[in-house]
Amino acid sequence: TQQQRAQLDWVKTNDLIPVIVQHAVSGEVLMLGYMNPEALAQTEQSGKVTFYSRTKQRLWTKGETSGNFLNVVSITPDCDNDTLLVLANPIGPTCHLGNSSCFAPAKHSWHFLFELEELLASRKTADPESSYTAKLYASGTKRIAQKVGEEGVETALAATVNDRHELTNEASDLMYHLLVLLQDQDLDLSAVIENLRKRHK
Ligand code: AMP
Ligand code: ZN
Ligand code: ZN
Ligand code: ZN
Repeated sequence: TQQQRAQLDWVKTNDLIPVIVQHAVSGEVLMLGYMNPEALAQTEQSGKVTFYSRTKQRLWTKGETSGNFLNVVSITPDCDNDTLLVLANPIGPTCHLGNSSCFAPAKHSWHFLFELEELLASRKTADPESSYTAKLYASGTKRIAQKVGEEGVETALAATVNDRHELTNEASDLMYHLLVLLQDQDLDLSAVIENLRKRHK
């Protein structure tokens, strides 16, 4: 870390380097602060994230009054040494408003799949007349499984005739029905993702 510190571009950052703090396990972005050389030295020495607070105009160890410390796991500079990424294990909520992060949960586009899955799960107890999904559950596992088979074939056919628009539609149909089938079988997307990850190792 002595070496890293020497490389940092203190001139460019005017002795105040931006620091992104990320949860060491979940990857959640927790907060952003600034460190001067003294704050970085204290962070490395104590293992607790310490910023230079522009408001307080002094060193500020996050958690010093609340007890919600950020225990440092690693400190790495970015490509041109003018920003730091700190991976940390937080004690309690990082945001003084009581949230785990100072940022609202990021909605990455893939997150929609999980939102959709949640909606589909809630349809299991809905009136079959009230929605297509509820009707699908009511028609039974065989029918749902058959739909997955049909949509799989339609997806394959769309690809063989190089119809990218149709392929997008059929792949959407397939994923929707697959999510319903997983729900019907009391499985979910994260079980599949975990399984894929295990295979990858
Ligand atoms: P703490 O460092 O958690 O003991 O909080 C001390 C004070 O720092 C709080 O009263 C807030 O004014 C400020 N503070 C704490 N956490 C944050 C945060 N995540 N972002 C901005 N300011 C904070
Ligand atoms: Zn940079
Ligand atoms: Zn906050
Ligand atoms: Zn289809």
